[in-house]
Amino acid sequence: MAITRDGTVDWMNRFAGEMAEHRQELVALDTAIGDGDHGTNMNRGMTKALEKISASEQADAGAVLKTVAMALISSVGGAAGPLYGTLFLQMGNSLAGQPEVDLAAYAAAWRKGLEGVQARGKAQPGDKTMVDALIPAVEALEAASDLDGGLREAAQAAEEGMKATTPLLARKGRASYLGERSEGHQDPGATSTYYLFKSAAEAFAG
Ligand code: ADP
Ligand code: MG
Repeated sequence: MAITRDGTVDWMNRFAGEMAEHRQELVALDTAIGDGDHGTNMNRGMTKALEKISASEQADAGAVLKTVAMALISSVGGAAGPLYGTLFLQMGNSLAGQPEVDLAAYAAAWRKGLEGVQARGKAQPGDKTMVDALIPAVEALEAASDLDGGLREAAQAAEEGMKATTPLLARKGRASYLGERSEGHQDPGATSTYYLFKSAAEAFAG
């Protein structure tokens, strides 16, 4: 089992589906500690991304992810658009030119994506951001011995990281303006990141 161009398109289709299905949930989470646009932002961005994927031919998984990155960067304002754009761009660059991607290469691409998100947004673990779902999931992939199991473990780790944002005090992004009032709410970006890993597990691990 390897990660291919077609599998990556399936992954992005599934992620777009999750963003449409959970748009209101993400809006509600962002209404509690932000400005309420995270669900609409992600849904708009991923709808655009699917349009761009069908409008041209991508040679490999890396090219698909770069197409998604450009669509998100150009169509989503706010913090999460550019951060997800960076994530997919770094992953896409890392995978460029590889027709079949194995677990090691896929985990390495996620690590590059995570580094890009942290370079851009400066969030550390525990700051109550998407990074809190990303880090445990990427670490789970890096520790895995096979792709299927690794993807399932990564999705579970992302879910745990997402849930663990609830008690945290936000130190980055709009939610940080609330200070202690940000405590007791799950982070919207960590939630969409969980759906990204859930989609990957469903697309690649069956
Ligand atoms: P905005 O905050 O501009 O309205 P969104 O609502 O779409 O953008 O996204 C909010 C999410 O973005 C947050 O829940 C958080 O996970 C993520 N986020 C915000 N700032 C940062 C940052 N500096 N680093 C990492 N993630 C961040
Ligand atoms: Mg917002």
